[in-house]
Amino acid sequence: MSEESLVSTDVDHDRDGKQFGRIQVPVSTNSSGWAQYFIPVVNVRNGDGPTAVLFGGNHGDEFEGPVALMKLARELDPQSIHGRIIMVPMLNRPAVTAGTRLSPIDGANMNRAFPGSRHDSFTGMIAHYVSTKILAQADLVVDVHSGGVSNHFLPCVNMHHVEDDDQMKRMLAAGRAWGAPMVFIYRDVAGEGLLPSYAEKLGKVTLGTEIGGRAQFGVRMLQITESGLRNVLHWLGILSEPATDPPAVEPQVVASDDARDYIMSPVSGIFEPFCELGDDVEIGQVLGQIHDLEMISRAPVPVQAETAGFIITRRAIPLTAQGELVAAIARPFEL
Ligand SMILES: [Zn+2]
Repeated sequence: MSEESLVSTDVDHDRDGKQFGRIQVPVSTNSSGWAQYFIPVVNVRNGDGPTAVLFGGNHGDEFEGPVALMKLARELDPQSIHGRIIMVPMLNRPAVTAGTRLSPIDGANMNRAFPGSRHDSFTGMIAHYVSTKILAQADLVVDVHSGGVSNHFLPCVNMHHVEDDDQMKRMLAAGRAWGAPMVFIYRDVAGEGLLPSYAEKLGKVTLGTEIGGRAQFGVRMLQITESGLRNVLHWLGILSEPATDPPAVEPQVVASDDARDYIMSPVSGIFEPFCELGDDVEIGQVLGQIHDLEMISRAPVPVQAETAGFIITRRAIPLTAQGELVAAIARPFEL
């Protein structure tokens, strides 16, 4: 972790103006023994001031982040900002190129690879570079996600419940400033090594998002992403004006703070839902049922809620393997 990264960049983060550059990851392939894989990075700076670091494409099947950040990078006039914005629109660019959640190069999940190491796999080397060279410069870290292919979310800004009260208050304030309908506090139930978790551990004001999903890519979700990015840059003092379209809403702060809120399928089969996003559910309520693909005379297996609240995310792929997330239940949260 402490060893110098093998990954490099052609961007000078301390130079004023706008630079479209690249992060260079060393690779050696059948077609080129000596090669580098390029990941675009944009640095916009205008004098001293706060630094925001914005990531998209951490997962390659979530396109809201890449598009919103590429547009923002092209539109920003360096003269109009105060401080610095570092943008990596396609952090896991091989995955974005393939349209897959995981990297096709090493099969790794970028959002389980942090902090990575110098001698890691391809994905871990990028995570290590971000951990040691980019996050350290940040006052605000944003990692734009959506439900991708497998999930469908009510649009929200998200974060963990961090121990430091001041950091938590700042994160909630930044989350509210985004202007999305919900600020969602979640738990890690599927491993560690997340980019936002690592940034939070560094004490950074860190925001993730879950904007829509189910392999869709809509006008409203893109608007929430684009305006939210501008709103948090305004909150941090980098932009003088917030976004005006769509108008920011006062979000509801909600949490899935019980491990039982994350409902994993008890068996494999086809998940037939009995609920939609936003529906209120009670303890014991049947949220859907799993149909067996082999023993079709068998009654479907019911999937029950063990907690009460509302459905904040639901599975988007009907075919479901045992242990895969079917839905998550959230409820209003107060700090
Ligand atoms: Zn994601």
